[in-house]
Amino acid sequence: MNDHLFVPRAVAEAPPAPVGPQPAGPDHPGWKRLRDPFPANVIGKLPRVWCRECKKAPRGNACERHQMATCSVCRNRITTGHLHLDYVGHAAVTSRLLEVDPLWNWRPVTEDELADLKRVFGGSEGEVWIALTVLGHTRFGVGDASGGDDSNRSGGDVSKIQIGDALRNAAMRFGVALDLWAKEDLWADEVAKADKAEEVQRGLADGDEPEKPPSRDWAAAVKELQASIDFDDAEKLAAGLEALTKLASEAVETSEFKGAVKAAMASLRRRIEQRQKALKAKAAEVAPSEPPAAAE
Ligand SMILES: [Zn+2]
Ligand SMILES: [Zn+2]
Repeated sequence: MNDHLFVPRAVAEAPPAPVGPQPAGPDHPGWKRLRDPFPANVIGKLPRVWCRECKKAPRGNACERHQMATCSVCRNRITTGHLHLDYVGHAAVTSRLLEVDPLWNWRPVTEDELADLKRVFGGSEGEVWIALTVLGHTRFGVGDASGGDDSNRSGGDVSKIQIGDALRNAAMRFGVALDLWAKEDLWADEVAKADKAEEVQRGLADGDEPEKPPSRDWAAAVKELQASIDFDDAEKLAAGLEALTKLASEAVETSEFKGAVKAAMASLRRRIEQRQKALKAKAAEVAPSEPPAAAE
């Protein structure tokens, strides 16, 4: 039936009805509501194993320094070498989105978008990217299934965790639970603290002299270096990598290149190298599209 195409001229020329609500302007009250802190009762404790040795131990086992135990905070049976990250689960995030915009929606990113995102951010195994639309505006988010405890997961669970994680991440781009995400960025600091506290404790328990304090605040040095790098500039990245290598060899000389110090340096190195790769890929892509020389 095509007779709906034969509509009177006046109707045919009327502006098309908007598909959805118009994108909200910057003064829309929803924006503020998205950023409102969450009540304590929806803030969960996400366990993260920080001990590198425990991570290497066979599933269900801890390293020599730690034990498996049921944690009174997160209720998981897990190595004592873990810490907690405050987080808001995707159910609470979803409920906030619904409250602000009942028509919120998400979709997987298109192939083109994915190619762009990977070029900019690199990309790793097990990642999913989504596009989240709230109040008529769309932002990207990425998720993986690495968070949480180490319990067995089937394929379907993994997808659910990835999507939930990506939703939380995309919602963060709208300011949802932003304060907690900021804390997650301080994760390396937390690990350093746990490592240090445990070292001191172990020293005392063994009746040894407590370990002498490090010759330098390596965590601060790494942070300072990171802040000084322009991640969009290939030259600065190379200089940053050089400075990092120098810093690492200093740490090796003082026998302090270990634990959280090593982890923080390795993580910065990975980040620099990832960016270098991304910039290189971008440059390679720009080159062939230049007009061919002397094409008369
Ligand atoms: Zn351990
Ligand atoms: Zn716990």
